Amino acid sequence: MFCESNKELKTLVEEARTYTKDGKVADYIPALGKANPNDLSIAINYPDGHCVSAGDVSEKFTLQSISKVISLALVLIDRGSKEVFEHVGMEPTGDPFNSIAKLETMIPAKPLNPMINAGALVVTHLLKGSTNDEKLDRLLAFIQTLANDSTIGYSEEIARSEYETADLNRALCYFLKQHNRMNEDVEQLLNLYTKQCAIEMNCLHLARIGMVFAMDGVDPETSKQVIPKEVARICKTFMVTCGMYNASGEFAINIGIPAKSGVAGGIMGAVPGRFGIGIFGPALDDKGNSIAGIKLLEMLSKNYRLSMFGAT
Ligand code: GLN
Repeated sequence: MFCESNKELKTLVEEARTYTKDGKVADYIPALGKANPNDLSIAINYPDGHCVSAGDVSEKFTLQSISKVISLALVLIDRGSKEVFEHVGMEPTGDPFNSIAKLETMIPAKPLNPMINAGALVVTHLLKGSTNDEKLDRLLAFIQTLANDSTIGYSEEIARSEYETADLNRALCYFLKQHNRMNEDVEQLLNLYTKQCAIEMNCLHLARIGMVFAMDGVDPETSKQVIPKEVARICKTFMVTCGMYNASGEFAINIGIPAKSGVAGGIMGAVPGRFGIGIFGPALDDKGNSIAGIKLLEMLSKNYRLSMFGAT
């Protein structure tokens, strides 16, 4: 994919990069601990095919929680919103992404939204396919279409590393199973979920996926509606209300664009009707969001009036 490096963006990246020293790479998934905390890159993908970037955009990273919004889109396509929202709610939690607290106070256990781990596990459980391989292949094919790159796959090393250490997610699954929210073999589900989270790409791909969400699900290159408009709308709304975990409110006030982050350091932004943004910066803040990535988005939002709620 051709992407022109941009001087203005480069200046912003260098300014934002100074914040990486205040962050830390995630290491609760051991393989993620190998990332270079000083990395920071960005790509912006426009519907006319134009792309601008700064930083080392060839650097690959895993989607982690960003995959949650994409698996949600596929499950909504597969099953329709009525069925999906019988199993997972629509409300932000105010808790960390891996919290079990609200599940316990809500019986029958229904995760509050699909962007927290409990909700995402339920969504992954709803993916259609007769085997894990088939489900993963369908998700990968969907992502390949959105990113326009049929070579996208997952990192076996990172999937294994998470699977071997996923006891908190295991606990969430067993809790949900005990309360009849899922009937699946927990190890099978974790196997699929950790591979989903380990899907690997660079920020050019991420910007392209963000652009398709920004354009209401239409791929401008083919003019095909690859995500139904209604599904794209639901996903973008979740990105605003829950996309940045328990920092989503602050992010909406300071930046004001639908975005989804992951603990590998990715942030996907979808500026409605305008363009997609892909950021990679693995040093995280205490909520698990890319610390320099957020600074960079703050600068962009201010400089280019990107907030959907009015100029910041
Ligand atoms: N795979 C990660 C987990 O379940 C995703 C979390 C995240 O990116 N916040 O813990």
